[in-house]
Amino acid sequence: RVYETMEAVNPATGETVATYEEHGDKEVEQCLAMAQETFEEWRERPIREREELLANAADVLRENKERYGEIMTKEMGKPISEAVAEVEKCAWACDHYAENAGAYLDSEQHPSPPGTAVSTVHDPLGPILAVMPWNFPFWQVIRFAAPYLTAGNVGLLKHASNVPGCAVALQEVFEKAGYPDGVFQTLLVGSETVDDVLADDRVKAATLTGSGPAGRAVAETAGRHLKKTVLELGGSDPFIVLDDADIDAAVETGVLARTQNGGQSCIAAKRFIVHEAVYDEYVDRLVSAFESLTVGDPMDEKTDVGAQADPDLMAELHDQVQASVGAGATCLTGGEPLDRDGAFYPPTVLADVPEGCPADSEETFGPVAAVYEVPNETEAIEKANDTQYGLGASLWTDDRDRGRRLARQVEAGCVYINEMTKSDPRVPFGGINDAGYGRELSEAGIKEFVNRKTVWTQ
Ligand code: NAP
Repeated sequence: RVYETMEAVNPATGETVATYEEHGDKEVEQCLAMAQETFEEWRERPIREREELLANAADVLRENKERYGEIMTKEMGKPISEAVAEVEKCAWACDHYAENAGAYLDSEQHPSPPGTAVSTVHDPLGPILAVMPWNFPFWQVIRFAAPYLTAGNVGLLKHASNVPGCAVALQEVFEKAGYPDGVFQTLLVGSETVDDVLADDRVKAATLTGSGPAGRAVAETAGRHLKKTVLELGGSDPFIVLDDADIDAAVETGVLARTQNGGQSCIAAKRFIVHEAVYDEYVDRLVSAFESLTVGDPMDEKTDVGAQADPDLMAELHDQVQASVGAGATCLTGGEPLDRDGAFYPPTVLADVPEGCPADSEETFGPVAAVYEVPNETEAIEKANDTQYGLGASLWTDDRDRGRRLARQVEAGCVYINEMTKSDPRVPFGGINDAGYGRELSEAGIKEFVNRKTVWTQ
């Protein structure tokens, strides 16, 4: 086989950061064999030991947070301060499962006839394939690895092709933490290899975080082989600001919710749906706040919005903006890539967004906010639900009961009242409809990839 190479290119400079040799069929087979062999031993370890190793992984992450942060920033352009914070959040998720995995997986007792005992125990499944995206290159991986490995599974990571350095560094985290070889392995392969790996009998399930097309492709193969999947896909989350909202807080959080990570987040606020009583004030302030952000060198601690991860993806974003303006949207700020080297897109606000144009109906994966004026809460909810996605939603009101009542009407996997949608290791995370299915994090997450085995004792 002629070895292909995988290149990490810094989107802020266009320079090649490093080149990696892709794994060929032989290496992939070795990884699969190692995964299977390691699983037989790993599943027998007391969960306490697996928790202790995870606590070590948290330490490794904290000790190396600057180095790991820099690898992320150089490969996909996020501001260094956000990259280091991402590593810290990963350590937190490891701490969480190091402390709680055993309790989450305790056996459950069930009512049963006199003289019998019936319980559910939680056994691991085996090697799990994880297909992951570049946008939170450490967090997405730790989000699956921390719970699933601690449950006794082993992991095979196929990371996005533009973050090979992160993929390699993540395997290092588990090696340095003292995990047996084979519990967590990185496959340096392109997406065309995913089908074969997933079809292999040794692989028992798959989790994918990424776009709709990738999710459908993986679900299709998994379905053919009857393997369970969890899919965390795209979103076009609403950010609803009602007439009684705290406008200061809704502006401050709204800016972060749309521009964090260069706007490249599945749960970013993408459609701002604002009550007419506060619309003018809210939009004026959102535009000023967007204009005050520093866009530039992601290695600079003071940068708010770094480089977009890839020039081609930025071109797609810009096409969406132009097509939306062509369809009648008004660009209130931003709207043109910065005139400088590297992939830099300014925070952009689009108003008068016509129904069905890209900013309205597609996911915008960059710092582009669509704003809508609505006359009442009923129409706010209607607009919020006018999407094929259904990941998160954020709703702003001073009346918490009103917020909780309306939350039930929002079609999404999670609704945050007076807070931006965010992931937290203690809280279930996931979507509905085209945003995917299954839950990650918390007790719900760790139970996605276990055999809930019923044991009836007569
Ligand atoms: P992507 O292009 O779908 O890639 C994600 C992963 O899937 C990569 O590892 C990619 O490999 C692989 N892949 C792509 N096509 C595939 C196929 N046909 N079969 C098997 N694997 C395939 O997505 P992305 O651009 O990296 O990430 C952005 C998307 O992820 C957005 O839609 C975002 O909303 C979503 N996302 C969702 C969540 C969530 O929790 N719901 C979180 C973050 C991101 P290659 O890189 O080799 O192509």
